[in-house]
Amino acid sequence: MNKKILVVGAGFSGATIANLFATKLNYDVHIIDKKGHIAGISYDYTDNNGIVIHKYGSHIFHTSNEKVWNFISQFCDFNQYIHKVLVFIDGKYCSLPFNLNSIYQVFNKQKAQIIEEKLYKKYEYNKKISVLDFLNQDDEDLKKLARYVYEKIFLPYSLKQWGFKPDELNCDVCARVPIFISKDDRYFQDKYQGIPKDGYTNLISKMLNYPNIKVSLNCDFKTVRNSLKDYDMIFYTGAIDEYFGYKFGQLPYRSVRLELEEYNQEFYQFNSVINYPCAQKFTRIHEYKYFSNIKINKTVIAKEYPEAFVLGKNNRCYPILKKDNFILYEKYLNEAKAKNNLCFLGRLGDYMYYDMDKAILRAIEVFDSLDI
Ligand SMILES: Cc1cc2nc3c(=O)[nH]c(=O)nc-3n(C[C@H](O)[C@H](O)[C@H](O)COP(=O)(O)OP(=O)(O)OC[C@H]3O[C@@H](n4cnc5c(N)ncnc54)[C@H](O)[C@@H]3O)c2cc1C
Repeated sequence: MNKKILVVGAGFSGATIANLFATKLNYDVHIIDKKGHIAGISYDYTDNNGIVIHKYGSHIFHTSNEKVWNFISQFCDFNQYIHKVLVFIDGKYCSLPFNLNSIYQVFNKQKAQIIEEKLYKKYEYNKKISVLDFLNQDDEDLKKLARYVYEKIFLPYSLKQWGFKPDELNCDVCARVPIFISKDDRYFQDKYQGIPKDGYTNLISKMLNYPNIKVSLNCDFKTVRNSLKDYDMIFYTGAIDEYFGYKFGQLPYRSVRLELEEYNQEFYQFNSVINYPCAQKFTRIHEYKYFSNIKINKTVIAKEYPEAFVLGKNNRCYPILKKDNFILYEKYLNEAKAKNNLCFLGRLGDYMYYDMDKAILRAIEVFDSLDI
């Protein structure tokens, strides 16, 4: 009899651990998901027009980690898509992260040149500075630039996206939107980036396509909770607070609502993602066609509206990275440590924002650390 594990959740975290146990150790793996599809929150599907829709929000794969890249490349080819983001401020579009090109897009040429020179004198080329740190300027021009970025982008975006001012959030969140002393307009500077040519759902399906991996969809953990003795180990990538019946209270998350619109035209906007920190109620418009090379006279966009996560109503998207929430998470983590043969991982199990590559890496590291 092969040894047997249960994996709860068929997103990147669950699929990675399932694949490693099945292929490296020849375990029997039972992977369950309460949703009716695999791929978790990175799930995509092709609509009637042949456009690939990222159901829960645009997903761009990017990594500089060779281990992750080598692992994931076994299952798919990536296209050459390079992600760039624009932000709409006062009727103008400029590059995000705010960089040396953005300065020329929002200030007149003479002013922009002065600011650029001052930035070169003060900072190394390619340096990223968190917007909050950047506010500490002595020079009047740099102070003006800092206030501009803070007041026009960072503060309103943070209030809309999180419902909090930036300084109320953990500094990791602030670091995600830096000022970039560079002319590199790419949103990510990672060595490898792109979108799986056949989509994320297909990629995860390949990760799970082994005779010793059984996938059960529409299967909530609570329905198998009484048969855990059948398994040698359990890997849980669902929400840690849910596992423990919310005994210490709910871990807060931010959710997003996507409203899709279809248009009979080639493109709706001139970039895949445009952010709206001030104007409009939505934070971003995503246009899916940019992620592939499909050539048709139709397009689909998604307007993204942030909202509070409400249990049973919407999905947990982003953990709210505040001190009190980490303290609450620690309580659950301590409970988890007392459990034998049960391991929490993934963005919901670890109550952590992971990009896809970090979720994969965490699963690889969990696997590598096991003494079996
Ligand atoms: C809106 C949004 C956009 C993002 N964009 C990017 C991006 O562009 N690039 C990037 O690298 N990363 C992005 N990410 C992060 C990326 O989605 C995560 O890194 C990845 O999804 C983590 O995978 P996971 O398996 O940990 O979680 P998930 O994909 O959420 O998988 C967890 C699975 O567990 C299942 N589950 C939960 N509870 C139970 C239960 N009780 N019983 C059974 N099943 C259960 C869920 O149904 C789900 O399928 C984005 C995240 C969000 C929210």
